[in-house]
Amino acid sequence: MSQFDIAQTIYNFSAGPGALPKPVLRRAAAEMLDWHGTGMSVMEMSHRGKDFIAIAEAAETRLRALMDIPGDYRVLFLQGGATGQFVAVPANLSSATGVADYVITGQWGQKAYNEASKYLDRINVAAKTNPHTYVPPPGEWNLSGSAGYVHITLNETVNGVVFETIPDTGEVPLVADVSSIILSEPIDVTKFGALYAGAQKNIGPAGLTVVIVREDLLARTRPRTPAVWDWYEMAKSGSMLNTPPTYAWYLAGLVFDWLADQGGVTEIAKVNQRKAEKLYAAIDGSGIYANPVAVPNRSRMNVVYSVTDASGAASPDLEKKFLAEAKDAGLVYLNGHRSVGGIRASLYNAMPESGVDALVSFMKEFENRHG
Ligand SMILES: *Cc1c(COP(=O)(O)O)cnc(C)c1O
Repeated sequence: MSQFDIAQTIYNFSAGPGALPKPVLRRAAAEMLDWHGTGMSVMEMSHRGKDFIAIAEAAETRLRALMDIPGDYRVLFLQGGATGQFVAVPANLSSATGVADYVITGQWGQKAYNEASKYLDRINVAAKTNPHTYVPPPGEWNLSGSAGYVHITLNETVNGVVFETIPDTGEVPLVADVSSIILSEPIDVTKFGALYAGAQKNIGPAGLTVVIVREDLLARTRPRTPAVWDWYEMAKSGSMLNTPPTYAWYLAGLVFDWLADQGGVTEIAKVNQRKAEKLYAAIDGSGIYANPVAVPNRSRMNVVYSVTDASGAASPDLEKKFLAEAKDAGLVYLNGHRSVGGIRASLYNAMPESGVDALVSFMKEFENRHG
């Protein structure tokens, strides 16, 4: 057994920071003390030196290939998380009209709205669900007609709700928070003005945020925007206006390489589809598990469900038992978001199909014992 082996197989269903592919962690470990004969770790390199520049450029090239990002889009590697972008989006895109439209289909969309409302002259809720269990059809949205952009959360991580199709907002740029869906299935970048994602779900470690923005939307930045939130300045400086999160950027590059080795996004999407189908089938086929989301909007990345008692109501007691027994079986971080409770299984790219198989058999066993 090498120092990198772990005794029990642990399947990590955390919503974020999420599991990373084991081969990526092994490679990072092997390269930790001496990256490619430089005698130092990537963490210790100057971000402006040729070694790190090579690492940074290779990662961007790989991401562009994986997502089929057209040449007229810029890719930024930033800090501040997706939450930082809740501010950066209005700061960078609203100068034309001072108005923006928000479609709120879950907790992250609500947070994006709350943050943006501090900066915008006017913010319009084009649609909002209650409860967050579906996506209202775009035909029913109340768009302002004068917005600098329309904001959506393509996959709502807390509520387990995903857009079935990408809405068409015409001339108004569509902006999406893709934190928990990026790289899990093909996303047509050309349908968006901008996309952003915190890395810690499907890209790499926390501390890195990826922004993909159409070039013609740069330089709309509102006056007095801090430089670190200014997409134009960041694009101009190759995301190196200040020190970027170098190690997280490097690790993201390793994840991109690993994903390419898996056959890329199209291939991993097939695995992700199978994983989600298996888990939803287990929930629907059971007598004690229930998922509240409209079938076409069920997230393939974050599967939320409750454990119910004989009356069909969610049972916090059974859920507590479920989580404790799952943990003993090596199935960890299955708790729902602290604000909603229940169970949530996040099935990001690094979760192997065997992890879902293990979860499904555990669920059947648990139902036999407690159902
Ligand atoms: C996790 C998450 C966030 C918050 O990301 P931070 O990087 O912690 O700011 C925002 N939006 C979505 C959809 C998320 O899944």
